[in-house]
Amino acid sequence: MKGIENSMPAIRVSNQGKRKVMSESFLTTARSWYEIEHKAWEFRTAIGATGEKFLPVMDILEIIMSQSLMLVELRIETVQDMGTAEGFTAPDGSFIAFREDVYKKAHRNDPRARFTVAHEIGHFVLHSNTVLSRVPFGAVVPPYKLTEPQANVFAASLLAPLQLIESYDTVSDLENNFGISHTCAVNRLNRRNNLSKKDSGC
Ligand SMILES: [Zn+2]
Repeated sequence: MKGIENSMPAIRVSNQGKRKVMSESFLTTARSWYEIEHKAWEFRTAIGATGEKFLPVMDILEIIMSQSLMLVELRIETVQDMGTAEGFTAPDGSFIAFREDVYKKAHRNDPRARFTVAHEIGHFVLHSNTVLSRVPFGAVVPPYKLTEPQANVFAASLLAPLQLIESYDTVSDLENNFGISHTCAVNRLNRRNNLSKKDSGC
């Protein structure tokens, strides 16, 4: 199993940090990048989506996970209520909420919104009903122990699994085939080529 220690540099968590996503991270079970990619593939397997490149994440969450299986409640919140948060997964896994503009964009297959949906599914799969603890102020924590980087890796792996990336695929192929952003496509190609130094999936 490939560890992620070498490819994911330590992050100093700070209330002053510009990367808001990191200040919202919680400490969780350490997981390798490989393990998270495997979890995302298991999820695709469970919903019978190992053959299709473009994953309809909003339909999967809304129709399969929420309406059919009743695994989780889907909530749409106003911009006033959500503020800068685009999505939120309840720690007990009871609901996943999206800001209404993100929900609409996800249904229109906007790559960033699709990533947000996949990211929240990642929190649901990896972090709901698990023990999470706050990161002590100023602590240096490796990203493989933090919820936000883990959810980002899950999202990238769910949207664009390495198993479905062809050897001849270009960045634009990945953008078009998997419905991901340019940056995400670049990172996934780098990941496939084992060159990625990124600390997140996209
Ligand atoms: Zn998150």
